[in-house]
Amino acid sequence: MIKESIKKKYTCPHCFTKFTKQQALFRCQSIPEICDYEDDAIYTHHHPVSTIEKQGRLIESQSQDFLKKFNEADGQKCDLCAHVTEQRACPTCHHNLDKGFFQTHYIHVGVIGAMTSQLSHFVVMAKQSFSENLAHNLGLIIHPSSDKSLEIKFERLEKSRSPLNKFSPTMDYFSFVFHGVDGDSNKDDFNLYDAFLYFLPIPTLPLKYNAFEALMKLVHESTTSKKRTVSKPFAIAYHSFEKLASLLPDSNTLLRQTNYVGGYNAKDNLQISGEMMAYTGAWYGANTLHFIKRHLPNHQFFTFSLTYPNDQIASNGAGWKVADALVWLLYQNKIVK
Ligand SMILES: [Zn+2]
Ligand SMILES: [Zn+2]
Repeated sequence: MIKESIKKKYTCPHCFTKFTKQQALFRCQSIPEICDYEDDAIYTHHHPVSTIEKQGRLIESQSQDFLKKFNEADGQKCDLCAHVTEQRACPTCHHNLDKGFFQTHYIHVGVIGAMTSQLSHFVVMAKQSFSENLAHNLGLIIHPSSDKSLEIKFERLEKSRSPLNKFSPTMDYFSFVFHGVDGDSNKDDFNLYDAFLYFLPIPTLPLKYNAFEALMKLVHESTTSKKRTVSKPFAIAYHSFEKLASLLPDSNTLLRQTNYVGGYNAKDNLQISGEMMAYTGAWYGANTLHFIKRHLPNHQFFTFSLTYPNDQIASNGAGWKVADALVWLLYQNKIVK
């Protein structure tokens, strides 16, 4: 096993603070009859909307013993009840870290233009698409613990065959964590994210408003680079493909499911992107295309539907091209080839 660097930093999926494995706290898992639960003002402050569960006692992990056994140390003895716990927590916001947290490569996706309910719905449908054939075709499986509403976690299917040179071999899991970026919260700093998804509808003509104007403003306010460019992968996804479908000739690429047998399908995706870019130009004009090209250099266009082709949200179906943008993000992160 290759040793991880003791200085390696991990990012809290809740508050985005960076910390080393050693800095992560332990949380005693004993029941309150054995080890008293304590009021945790820091946890309450950082989790104002969650149903606050009683939390076990937090223990620092700074013993020499821990340092010596850095790579093996997965547990810590509670200083009050002496039970050993493996539960870790963020040192800043006290958020409990998932089992396997230190073996997971997280892709934090800033989602622009979606209400929370729409976003959860999208994530459910995307998980369905992946768990049918898609993940398997890409050499991944959906991790069984992937039951959180705004997270999709994958495990590598065949570890030896995977093109993962970029990552530490200790990384066995990959996880998308979705965060709503609404232009009105402390999570709007674009530097926090590894990738972006911009959701917008197929417009009804004549145009009543320009869906890119709000995006332009947000990009201007949320990037710190001088030229206001976002160099991270930026997926622009039209989410109501059913409105466009009836206008297309039968032979159109958008009416074919994208084939991912053997990996990412660059050819089909570029064709789809080109088509949606042409529509974007026709709907929103050359200035919008110019803005996208200049400020979002690593962009790609997508279109999907949660209801097409059956005109309803199928209980067993997975919509239309719902996961395409996420496959592109996996490809951009060199997780699939
Ligand atoms: Zn305890
Ligand atoms: Zn945190």
